[in-house]
Amino acid sequence: MLGTFCAITLKGRDVNSASEERSPILEATGLSKVFVDQLGFLGRGGERAVRAVQDFNLALERGSTVGLVGESGCGKSTVARMLMLLEAPTEGGIRLNGELLDHFDRNAVRKFRRSVQMVFQDPYASINPAMSVGEAVAEPLLLQRRDLSAKERRKIVIDRLEDVGLGESDLGRRSTDFSGGQLQRIGIARALTLEPSVLICDEPVSALDVSIQAHVLNLLKDIQKRLELSVLFISHDLSVVRYLCDNIAVMYLGRIVEEGPTNLILSSPAHPYTQALVSSEPSIDPEPEAGSTRIILQGELPDPANPPSGCPFRTRCWKAEEKCAEQRPERHLIDVGHHVACHLANAS
Ligand code: SF4
Repeated sequence: MLGTFCAITLKGRDVNSASEERSPILEATGLSKVFVDQLGFLGRGGERAVRAVQDFNLALERGSTVGLVGESGCGKSTVARMLMLLEAPTEGGIRLNGELLDHFDRNAVRKFRRSVQMVFQDPYASINPAMSVGEAVAEPLLLQRRDLSAKERRKIVIDRLEDVGLGESDLGRRSTDFSGGQLQRIGIARALTLEPSVLICDEPVSALDVSIQAHVLNLLKDIQKRLELSVLFISHDLSVVRYLCDNIAVMYLGRIVEEGPTNLILSSPAHPYTQALVSSEPSIDPEPEAGSTRIILQGELPDPANPPSGCPFRTRCWKAEEKCAEQRPERHLIDVGHHVACHLANAS
């Protein structure tokens, strides 16, 4: 099926200078998000501060793919919402092409959405059932490209549908006529209509049947390569990230605990949390390597409103020492591009 896609018709990327090519296209520095919950009726029970994300940094290079992994509730989706300017950070900044963004500047946000688009987790909820497929895919163009004629819009919508294996005959159909996998393709087509440079994919295959997931992943990989898109791929599933991403960042309780090139992180995970994630990846090898035993984490993710002292992972870490309760480990470099926040991780 994937091999039958029409040749993509999006224009090549304009790269104005060598320096622009080298600098990250999307950059986040020191992003933090604190949600304040009102406790009790009308807040008369006081407040509770939930630190969803703390000191998150990202430098997404042009044409590269970064996977952000971690279990549910670790703050991944809050990161996605901040990077999409849907949520203002409590601290920190986001730069697109080196330019610092203001979440409250409507013009800047509008311009940003032309370059950065999102593929959502739930394809059933992300397509309005009251719209035809043609209307849903054309929606970003109506908002952002008022200069286009109806004929030009229609041509772009058909091109994008063909890019994802659908076509002109699907324009008038409703979302209820499609399977989850087809709806996610429509979501991807819509995300591509404005010719973005960056795609943020928030668990785009987790709501799909396993048999369909591979088709959507192949499609995303194919599109990323052909368009040289920069992609932040958010997932709880390491095998998905292994397949798609050049680099991986592992998140635990709102913080990045390990990051680096995919092959390094997956072959030599240094943080105990990453070691547990890697060990739980299903193996296709009928005789797994000696010593590759599965690490089963005990306990639940701690309450982000009341995180443990010192290392946030210490309440589940089988290697924890006394100082882990006293001092939070800083992220440090242990190999080329490989950073870890663990007291016991040392450079080789
Ligand atoms: Fe475990 Fe200590 Fe490393 Fe935290 S700093 S991951 S508790 S060994």
